[in-house]
Amino acid sequence: MKYVYGPVPSRRLGQSLGVDTIPLKTCNWNCVYCQLGRTEPLINQRKDYYPPEEILVEVQAALESHAPGEIDWVTFVGSGEPTLHVSMGWLIRQVKSITHLPVAVITNGSLLYQPDLRQELTAADAILPTLDAGTADLYRTINRPHPDITFDRLVEGLIAFRTEYKGKLWVEVMLVQGLNDTPEALWEIAKILQQIRPDAIHINLPTRPAVETWVKPPSKENLMQAMAILGSTAEVVHPAEGSFDLSGYDNLIDAIIGIITRHPMRQRELERTLDRWTPGQVSQTLAELANDRRAQIIERYGVQFWSTVLSHYPDTAQSSRTTPKHQRLSNGTSDKEV
Ligand code: SF4
Repeated sequence: MKYVYGPVPSRRLGQSLGVDTIPLKTCNWNCVYCQLGRTEPLINQRKDYYPPEEILVEVQAALESHAPGEIDWVTFVGSGEPTLHVSMGWLIRQVKSITHLPVAVITNGSLLYQPDLRQELTAADAILPTLDAGTADLYRTINRPHPDITFDRLVEGLIAFRTEYKGKLWVEVMLVQGLNDTPEALWEIAKILQQIRPDAIHINLPTRPAVETWVKPPSKENLMQAMAILGSTAEVVHPAEGSFDLSGYDNLIDAIIGIITRHPMRQRELERTLDRWTPGQVSQTLAELANDRRAQIIERYGVQFWSTVLSHYPDTAQSSRTTPKHQRLSNGTSDKEV
């Protein structure tokens, strides 16, 4: 399958059938913690990146191939920002018409300032946008957005969406050591969250390979502090353990590429996930994919992860806390060095 994968285990969404509506790393942000490599170039155009009818056919086939109870949520989540697909509203409504399963959208929330998109998303049962910063400076430092997506627009969109949306609004906050885990930064985020009034706040930690080599999760003390400052609806969301459904893949190469394009993984995790094949077969196929320049090893936090070579991860020498040069030029913004 090209657009649909899983179901995959998710702490928040149980067994989640993933629907990926856009090409790899089509995004209007370039987050320092992104596990899919750098966004080059930033893209902020809404259009039909793939024919929506084709996506729907795959969703229907995946739903029909699973017994009741095997899937808990249908989740639009992509190898980039899913709301850049201009038929998102149509897709959500169509999926709702063919299944009783709830539908979620994991989005950076950057386009919620647009009334049309807010209207499209009201058909979903849960929306999970991101808010990593409470000031424009920190927002530019962490999320490195397209210049049209200002901090004021982001906040304005989230607040407006809350007033119009009756479903579950779960805001995600990714904490990065030294950036947004200080008391000052956390109080600024808390102030904005009080205006948004989400149903829950999900604190995420960078555990997959962050694009920038210097990105680290907060210390235990700072994490406790974040929980206290962000309030009683805040909870830490750790990656879920469980099995990936690989029935949509006929061969090992497609299965590996399908997984590591969206979820870079350690070799042992891959061997566990791909238990239809022996560890020896997985390891040999990974070596062949690396040899053919289709897979690469990325090292972060002293751990090696397999990823597709299509994702661009800078090495330590190229990874700096300032915005990459190519982006500064195209943005015209001057991100503050932290
Ligand atoms: S983490 Fe999400 S929003 Fe940020 S750059 Fe990656 S795909 Fe885009």
